Amino acid sequence: MATSSRAALVTDFTQPLSIGTVEIPEPQGFEAVVKVRYSGVCHTDLHAAKGDWPVKPTPPFVPGHEGVGEVIAVGPEVTRVAVGDIVGNAWLWTACGECEFCEAGWETLCLAQKNGGYAVNGSFGDYMLVDSRYCPIIPDGVDLDAIAPIPCAGVTVYKGLKMADTKPGEWVLVSGIGGLGHVAVQYAVALGRRVVAIDIDDAKLALATKHGAELTVNAREFADPSARVKDLTSGGVHGALVTAVNAHAFPQALYSLRRGGTLCLNGLPPDSFPLDIFSVVLNGWTVRGSIVGTRRDMEEAIDFFARGLVRPTFTTRPIGDINDIFDEMLAGGIDGRIVLDLAR
Ligand code: NAD
Ligand code: ZN
Ligand code: ZN
Repeated sequence: MATSSRAALVTDFTQPLSIGTVEIPEPQGFEAVVKVRYSGVCHTDLHAAKGDWPVKPTPPFVPGHEGVGEVIAVGPEVTRVAVGDIVGNAWLWTACGECEFCEAGWETLCLAQKNGGYAVNGSFGDYMLVDSRYCPIIPDGVDLDAIAPIPCAGVTVYKGLKMADTKPGEWVLVSGIGGLGHVAVQYAVALGRRVVAIDIDDAKLALATKHGAELTVNAREFADPSARVKDLTSGGVHGALVTAVNAHAFPQALYSLRRGGTLCLNGLPPDSFPLDIFSVVLNGWTVRGSIVGTRRDMEEAIDFFARGLVRPTFTTRPIGDINDIFDEMLAGGIDGRIVLDLAR
């Protein structure tokens, strides 16, 4: 096995990524080494590369938490996967397994968790390390390029939709129809919800319609986009999932809610919005955050893909394009997801 390999590295939050080499670690304990075939590029990778958030990764590091590939070596304690299996990495790279949150099946809230492509080198490279107890296992026979976005975008919105707390037949607003949002529309439809999509770009809204949204609203075209959503849905949506990367989208989604509705926050722009206490109280609204999904959510989200109920819209690109891809992402110019093809 090679001892070093090609990877896209963040060396400085103010500089473009560089293509360099990193050591391929010997797998310890429950770890496995994976030859990466494809990796989705999530907006979180861009936030990581720019050091956008209060808790920052430490350069140099390799981003990427939507990788899929083949296990080529396993540590001495590994039982869940074997050499030759196809697995993914994920944002929830590992957790402690013992704290009050892990015990309760909320490992996504574990304070000792480590995150892929952030605290641990990720999938923007030819090889990656995974924790075999936490890595998603990819079923046989699926298209590896198409499934790559599911271990982050897919599981995040699948869980987010659960947390938005709607029933079949009810309206859910999906705000932001990017990598996460266009998959959210598909999960919502598969779960029997009626979807209103909101974005600031007609091309994104056309993608939402293609994936089953009944109604679309271009927030740039209405002085009060929430009023438009309320008109279209006879009183407002029952739940809203915000995946947008702009803080303006969050109050817009809040005011689109029906009385008793739930706003679930997935998007992570590094800003805030003021919460209108009076309206939240009088309308009985719930506002909550949702971070990726548990291992069980991951299995369920992958199963929807395997059964053909969701399929990301994606374009494959070589790893050498990573800085261009980030520029396109910042400009909002990506249709669905970009998936890196590590064979290129
Ligand atoms: P993306 O760049 O693919 O998509 C963002 C979308 O937001 C684009 O379609 C853009 O047009 C839209 N948008 C921008 N401004 C808007 C506005 N004012 N109103 C409505 N839409 C607007 O990004 P992505 O990969 O889908 O990630 C989205 C966000 O979700 C990022 O902040 C990312 O870090 C975060 N994220 C969170 C989790 C989680 O677990 N909570 C997981 C993955 C990603
Ligand atoms: Zn992600
Ligand atoms: Zn824990």
